[in-house]
Amino acid sequence: MVRRIQPEPFRIKMVEPVSIPDKAQREEALKRGHFNLFGLRSEDVYIDLLTDSGTGAMSKQQWAALMRGDEAYAGATSFYALKEAVKDILGFDYVIPCHQGRAAENVTFGALVKPGDRIPFNMPFDTTRAHIFNVGAEPVDCVIDEAYDPAKYHPFKGNVDIAKLEKAIQTYGVERIPLIMVTITNNSGGGQPVSLANLREVRKVADKYGIPLFLDAARMAENAYFIKTREEACKDMSVAEILKACMDCADAITVSAKKDPLVNIGGLVCTRTEDLYYKILPRVILFEGFATYGGLAGRDLECLAQGLREMVQEDYLSHRIAQVAYLGDLLDEAGVPFVKPTGGHAIFIDAAAFLPHIPQKYYPADVLGVEVYREGAVRGIGLGALAFATEDEATGEIVYPKLELFRLAINRRTYTNSHMEYVAETIINVYKRRDSIRYGLKVDFAPAAKGLHHFLAHLSPVSL
Ligand SMILES: *Cc1c(COP(=O)(O)O)cnc(C)c1O
Repeated sequence: MVRRIQPEPFRIKMVEPVSIPDKAQREEALKRGHFNLFGLRSEDVYIDLLTDSGTGAMSKQQWAALMRGDEAYAGATSFYALKEAVKDILGFDYVIPCHQGRAAENVTFGALVKPGDRIPFNMPFDTTRAHIFNVGAEPVDCVIDEAYDPAKYHPFKGNVDIAKLEKAIQTYGVERIPLIMVTITNNSGGGQPVSLANLREVRKVADKYGIPLFLDAARMAENAYFIKTREEACKDMSVAEILKACMDCADAITVSAKKDPLVNIGGLVCTRTEDLYYKILPRVILFEGFATYGGLAGRDLECLAQGLREMVQEDYLSHRIAQVAYLGDLLDEAGVPFVKPTGGHAIFIDAAAFLPHIPQKYYPADVLGVEVYREGAVRGIGLGALAFATEDEATGEIVYPKLELFRLAINRRTYTNSHMEYVAETIINVYKRRDSIRYGLKVDFAPAAKGLHHFLAHLSPVSL
């Protein structure tokens, strides 16, 4: 029997009560938070889909692992449990724990990238982009053109356009390109996967020019699951085998363990060679902690080791992807425009198509976020002009991003399918009254930090 709803492959052992704040409380919360959803408190929110980062529920085995945590400063048994899990699941010999993904980026880029460098990418995630700017370098987007067309179906919209990659290398020169990086799945482009065939092509280019290939592997298990279901050549492989094959393409990876590895805090840098390991390690000691804990408690390392093993379980992955797809189906039936096909961890609503009457300079993705919160105390995040617009240094002109998206990130093992129905109903109610949404947002305050606007901006409505 084909079921529309794939039932949860877990039962709930501990309950965290949540409630819907009333209308007046929601209005008050919006004002208090300066119309920036990052400014809301958790208790202001009923269903919190701001991010799937560190917000998942742990398994009973992970809670048990916490108790096994060895808090030794150097050489903790929990570090060796992590190292073993990395070797088994990902195949890397050298493991550097970090407190989260951006810490892995900080130590990696700080060690390997110099001012003026260029880093070819499919597309960098927002913190990754900000970290590249922070060391005076710039990313070069080389994702396939289909990534920029939200309505267009392509099974691997996160793929690197090999011609664009070659062109970037020829334009900037090998000496200015310390590494190539591929984000799997491509979060900023809608959680879209990268095929194994594409990763192997990128590997060939990396070999041809002698440039190391890094993966930003926060969502590597979901990426592997998509490969299994969409890439003909891999359909008989297990997710674990596919994941290993993807990792085999890379010289190193940076990981936010708060995503697929199923922990509330943690990150990793894994390298193939000792040489790369020792290049990065001094910065870890400087910014994170000693080599065998990297800013994490021993119990966190132990938990992460268990999470890495759980993330490739196929019943878990197939429910997760089906749950996101279920929310997508409900929205699709009502005509709500979003990035197709549905990606791994989130629905990315096309705010430009949802609110076409609001010019991009008034941040339609963020207006949509405010309205969805107003409607049902559901929190998502705007990923459009507020997050990604840049100023052209030569002309001073604002360069707007091609996509104006509002993301609903689904926390792992946390919400039920009936929560998804509530979210769909909330969005659909806003969609029905979209023509009456006649205001934009303006920035009243933002810190002078490139790429970090959207986290901290104070906004206020302006009627249009
Ligand atoms: C979340 C994420 C990061 C940053 O990781 P944090 O743990 O939030 O610091 C980097 N890259 C990708 C693709 C991510 O999804």
